[in-house]
Amino acid sequence: MIDSPHPLDAPLARCSTEIPDTWPYQELGLSPSGLLVVLSGPSGVGKDAVITGLENDHFPFTRIVTATTRSIRPGEVKGQSYHFLSTEEFIQWRNNGKFLEWAEYGHHYYGTPLESVRQALAAGETVLLKIEVQGAAQVKQKVPDAVFIFLGPSSFDELTERLRKRGTESPVALSRRIQQAREEFAQLPNYDYLVINRHGGLRCAVEQIEAIITAERLRIHQRQMRFVS
Ligand code: 5GP
Repeated sequence: MIDSPHPLDAPLARCSTEIPDTWPYQELGLSPSGLLVVLSGPSGVGKDAVITGLENDHFPFTRIVTATTRSIRPGEVKGQSYHFLSTEEFIQWRNNGKFLEWAEYGHHYYGTPLESVRQALAAGETVLLKIEVQGAAQVKQKVPDAVFIFLGPSSFDELTERLRKRGTESPVALSRRIQQAREEFAQLPNYDYLVINRHGGLRCAVEQIEAIITAERLRIHQRQMRFVS
């Protein structure tokens, strides 16, 4: 007689980082918790492509939709790509303490809604924030135990070329972003991990990020996502 497959033999369950209920985990004083992962790096380095890679792999994580005052680009969807706010709305959200962090970048405002992050962490999820470097520095102050990953290009020339090819910026905005990227590199020592998105190496960058998150989720003593006020 052939045994029917055990439910845990499904590929995703076989590779899950969740602790089975049968483990006396909490009795040992250990507590599973959510994990906040900050993926940062210069504009144009491929953060969106990496996130699409994680989604295509069905890698378990929750992406927080952030807010911006810049205009919507072709292909973007309101409420999915960003919450697109007017400057007045953004300032109101900010003054009401609705952001975990916020930054002015390329003459526009960007901010991470605090409540979405709190809720997902409380549910034990792996929360991924794709934000620029000034915002990442604020998260470091507010949630010091979060995991900080810097996604970098293999060279500065390559980054410039990618931004140029993307063609979403005017020449002035483009040179501003390039200058900004130079300043962002100086923040590298504040990060836990450096992943390089080499030309033709997107798959490798995705796998390295999956490896980092997997290792973090497998820690016995999990990082505690405490909010410092
Ligand atoms: P873009 O205008 O190209 O969509 O984004 C510009 C930069 O802002 C990117 O580096 C992106 O990761 C970052 N960004 C997106 N949302 C946020 C946010 O909520 N806070 C911060 N600090 N940066 C963000």
